[in-house]
Amino acid sequence: MVIFDLDGVVYRGLDPVPGAAQLINSLHQRRVRVRYATNNSMASREAYVERLGAMGIPSSVAEIVTSTSATVGYLRHHLPEARRVMGVGSPAMIAELQAAGLEVIPVADVTHPGYQGEPLTDRVDAVVVGLDQAYDYLRVAVAATAVRDGAAFIATNADLRYPTPRGFLPGAGSLVAAIRAASGGVDPIVVGKPEPNMFAEILEDAGVEPAAAVVIGDNPDADILAAHRSGIFSVLILTGVADAATADGLAGDRQPDVVVAGHAELGRLFDEWLS
Ligand SMILES: [Mg+2]
Repeated sequence: MVIFDLDGVVYRGLDPVPGAAQLINSLHQRRVRVRYATNNSMASREAYVERLGAMGIPSSVAEIVTSTSATVGYLRHHLPEARRVMGVGSPAMIAELQAAGLEVIPVADVTHPGYQGEPLTDRVDAVVVGLDQAYDYLRVAVAATAVRDGAAFIATNADLRYPTPRGFLPGAGSLVAAIRAASGGVDPIVVGKPEPNMFAEILEDAGVEPAAAVVIGDNPDADILAAHRSGIFSVLILTGVADAATADGLAGDRQPDVVVAGHAELGRLFDEWLS
């Protein structure tokens, strides 16, 4: 199984990375299973299927793993008793939690005046935090109170910021940090890269051992570190955030097993491995 990071590997912003579609289609022809793993919690998996399709890469929802879908998997496997969750995140995140059969408690509900004095844990099993563009004081207050009262604290990812054409904007990790601080310092369980949970969910769902998988990523601090922590062979591709000089300086858990310049070189590697 080949697990591709998306931004910086398959596309950069709105532009396809040259050779990515050709390589992925050649893997399809050889019946190699692929997955796409993104820390983004803002878009639905269906939206990624559409986006990849427009780039000439046919995919299915089952192949797309966002930090939200991995969080749903994490809850199912590790907190099966959690039924009622407070979601601080995008409408797509809330919809995916509901589609998984979880009862999503609206923030306004638990802050109703009639609610005061009752521990939030009577109503909330877990607080799930992703990137939320409607983030505000009320959400911090309610989420931190529920966490302080003992609800599980789950972060889709801990990215403090993410790049946009206008420069960096706050990521889910910055929002998580405020809730953590307000809770009195309760540490969240982080699902997304570089934690190993997202890759673990992918492998468990597919029934694949770490030794039978390879991760293709552009970010040593996220993809490569997560691959190491998951025991998966890692390939750093220099089509995104890392250049050759960065790759040369990597050590320890951030050092990939292989570095390739782009998809043509990666294709030659697969030709060797699959022959
Ligand atoms: Mg990337």
